[in-house]
Amino acid sequence: MTLDERGTVDAQGPYDTPLLQVDDLHVTYRTRSGDVPAVQGVTFTLERGGSLGLAGESGCGKSTLANAILRLLPTGTQVDGSVLLAGQDILAMKPGRLRSVRWTEGAIVFQGALHALNPVQQIGKQIAEPMLLHRTQPSKGAAARRVRELLEQVGLPGDRARSYPHQLSGGQRQRVLIAMALACEPALLLADEPTTALDVMVQAQVLALLADLRGEHGLSMIFITHDLSVLTDVCDSLAVMYAGRVVEEGPSDRVFRSPQHPYTRALAAAFPTIGDPASRLRPAGLAGDPPDPANLPGGCAFHPRCAVAEDRCRTTTPVLAPVAAGRRAACLLVEAAP
Ligand code: SF4
Repeated sequence: MTLDERGTVDAQGPYDTPLLQVDDLHVTYRTRSGDVPAVQGVTFTLERGGSLGLAGESGCGKSTLANAILRLLPTGTQVDGSVLLAGQDILAMKPGRLRSVRWTEGAIVFQGALHALNPVQQIGKQIAEPMLLHRTQPSKGAAARRVRELLEQVGLPGDRARSYPHQLSGGQRQRVLIAMALACEPALLLADEPTTALDVMVQAQVLALLADLRGEHGLSMIFITHDLSVLTDVCDSLAVMYAGRVVEEGPSDRVFRSPQHPYTRALAAAFPTIGDPASRLRPAGLAGDPPDPANLPGGCAFHPRCAVAEDRCRTTTPVLAPVAAGRRAACLLVEAAP
């Protein structure tokens, strides 16, 4: 493990361990009406420079999982398991160290940039703030130069630093949030539905930008969306979540082109493939809503919506099992690989 001059662990090293290791992660919200299990037993590894897409409908645990990785959950939330970022135990970290890690080693981009930015402060000052706070730039002048650089990296003119959020379009504001997340050069970028609020053209631009930044800076990325087709464009691997669990995972193109789990199949059919007009005619294929995490069905949580459910699906909970090289699925009807 390497230490830099601030006495912090360098997230670029050591190179012989994965950047992120999440092991048997459970997240339970404590509410007045009882415990709500939002994430149940999620395990994955993200290599340096790798990208993982988390897919699933709203309420399936994707955002909770992303927030748990940087401990951005409400006070009192029960989190069990292990999250190691560059070998550091995030769940055991002291608050001061954690604040620094959230900018310098892992950063998150939320959807809805208008609400994430301060409406009465110029965007340049907002981007410079974490750099000065975490002393990744030695002076205000150096931070201002870095702000211009960052704005240009995300495709905005440097003099936009003097703009206020309301003077920018939705796509420009989302770019500002990405610039802000990159300010302290984190090794890991978590992008939580960063393009959901944007129109299709701007969405494509922001996705291309994220892919370029990943290539240029060797960023590792976790990208969250309900749209499987978006994930296959920007991620190497995919994990599909349902009712707080991963129900299918594997290389993104193979999961999208030959989904094994009935839920993944429904998700893949529910969205048109870019460049394939015929796919727009496919039925949505998925009726109803995901279950309330506070009141999950027994057995396979997907069984009330599953078109091929059998009686045993009501009582037996499937576990993730290998179905092919590098692929796993949690379905009683999917044959495990020998
Ligand atoms: Fe459907 Fe049963 Fe498979 Fe669950 S275990 S996805 S209900 S077939």
